[in-house]
Amino acid sequence: MAKDVAQEAPAQGAVAQEAEEEFEAPERGSADELLDAGAHSDLDAMRHSAAHVMAEAVMDLFPDAKLGIGPAIADGFYYDFQLPRALTPADLEKIEARMAESIRADHPFVRRELAPDEGRAFFAERDQPFKVEILDDLAARAKADGSPMPPTSLYEHGSFVDLCKGPHVASTGRIGPFKLLAVAGAYWRGDEKRPMLQRIYGTVWETQEDLDRYLWRRAEAKKRDHRRLGIQLDLFSFHDVSPGSAFWHPKGQTIWRTLEGAMLELQARRGYQEVSTPILVDKKLWQQSGHWDLYGDNMFRVLSEDHAFGLKPMNCPESTFIYRSKVRSYRDLPIRYSEYGRLHRNERSGTLSGLTRVRQFIQDDAHIYVRPDQLADEIEALLGEVREAYSWFGLKPRFAYATKPDKAIGDPVLWERAEGLVKAALDRAGGDYKLKPKDGTFYAPKIDIYIDDALGREWQMATIQADLVMLPERFDLTYIDEHGQPQRPIAIHRAIYGSLERFIGILLEHFAGALPLWVAPIQAVVIPIADRHVQAADELAGVLRSRGLRVEVDRSDNRMQNKIRLATEQKVPYMLVLGDREVEARTAAPRTRAGEQQPAEGWEALADRLAAETGKRTVD
Ligand SMILES: [Zn+2]
Ligand SMILES: [Zn+2]
Repeated sequence: MAKDVAQEAPAQGAVAQEAEEEFEAPERGSADELLDAGAHSDLDAMRHSAAHVMAEAVMDLFPDAKLGIGPAIADGFYYDFQLPRALTPADLEKIEARMAESIRADHPFVRRELAPDEGRAFFAERDQPFKVEILDDLAARAKADGSPMPPTSLYEHGSFVDLCKGPHVASTGRIGPFKLLAVAGAYWRGDEKRPMLQRIYGTVWETQEDLDRYLWRRAEAKKRDHRRLGIQLDLFSFHDVSPGSAFWHPKGQTIWRTLEGAMLELQARRGYQEVSTPILVDKKLWQQSGHWDLYGDNMFRVLSEDHAFGLKPMNCPESTFIYRSKVRSYRDLPIRYSEYGRLHRNERSGTLSGLTRVRQFIQDDAHIYVRPDQLADEIEALLGEVREAYSWFGLKPRFAYATKPDKAIGDPVLWERAEGLVKAALDRAGGDYKLKPKDGTFYAPKIDIYIDDALGREWQMATIQADLVMLPERFDLTYIDEHGQPQRPIAIHRAIYGSLERFIGILLEHFAGALPLWVAPIQAVVIPIADRHVQAADELAGVLRSRGLRVEVDRSDNRMQNKIRLATEQKVPYMLVLGDREVEARTAAPRTRAGEQQPAEGWEALADRLAAETGKRTVD
């Protein structure tokens, strides 16, 4: 069921599997989160208002419906309902028609307050158990805090009343062109032990043109869905024996290794050293780092000989053991440890989705230990690494600078210093960056990296964090300065691809599966026209492989046109057809996946040319 849900849900570009900042994610399904209408802009307020109007329509059609929540989300809104039967596409049409009536009637949205007990009675009388539960949670929390229970805030339009803090548009007539998109199952409060509700997704925009553009983008995103491409291109699969963990097939693993190889080459040039640390680590390490207390629910815990261990959710603390294995001098820094560590995070099974929200993944992680006077230079160089790596895919990174959050740990003086140094580096590296006040991690200011994909969706990618607190202080890291005194280094946490799984998912969607030549798992297919050409095809494949190209021979008894069609569907960059004439002359005329026919070339010359092309990390 969870799998179907994920496949039905609209693509949401901005939903990222956060990197290390996920450490401080708020509690999912809390009453506060349930009451957040997600309306942080005028457009969001309109979207959230449309959710009310949709709930009104559903209540008209199903008077016994139980209401969950209905926030605005990226590109639209949803509302969760418990209904006597599964919704059909015909239901959605009826709901849309009723919504249109309500919008034409231009009912004003009116806010009303009730005393807490009246509010609870209001929803209890109307048999709305989920609303009552939210109010009970708020009351329990107020009691625990010793604070007074706030009045119950209601919003009313026409005959429909909802528990809601707002905001809304002034009246239903202000709601723009809309469309209902899909129905998916969603557990109440995201908890697989609670009832499965039906979530109706809708979208609404200010103009018809905006709506049309969005619907096109959505249809295109569906075609490009990496979960679908993963099957079509035979790259990876998921199995319920290990939810949220990809099984990489040979071609997927080839992509993986190719990306890793490119990054290792960049890192070698920049003086990184690769390390590898254990996955199964004693609880006491996670207590020291703070993960056990703050992040424990997201960790997989393992008991052995009555002793608790955790599977590492991040690599950070372990690299300190390697750093501390020797006395470090100011002359030794920077020390750049990179690690492709296999990480596990206990994401709820209901939230897992393809490669973009997983339980197991590998990050191109690094921890760089620098002196304070080296921080700005190092960050500037890291921004250059990011630009270079993203240019391999024709992507232009954008940067955002996130400063100290309210619940930061550590000395405010250190924070001020770290922020000053990060900002100086960003300013020096030129280019624009967005400011995200108070959005740093609890231990470090950071730089977040974003891209826009081919459909204009924004993805948060990698992150660079300047940590003066967590690793240096909690793990007592030092180096000896020029006066023989111990000093604290700064630890930079950085990933460029971020999770390789997620990065590959994004690449597949961005390129609609037609990966750049240098990444394509199979770069050329040799297509013998008849059986008598197979031996020559093997020979040509050998010549190409000797130049490092990844090549297959199609030995099937399919007809040539069929072989070309299959290779095109597999998004193989080059098809090399061999018939009598080509075999005789030892030539081949490449055909590209875009359908372009190139002139015939001798095998050796062709191999040299293709090898030179694949050696360049560029987008074709
Ligand atoms: Zn509302
Ligand atoms: Zn780290």
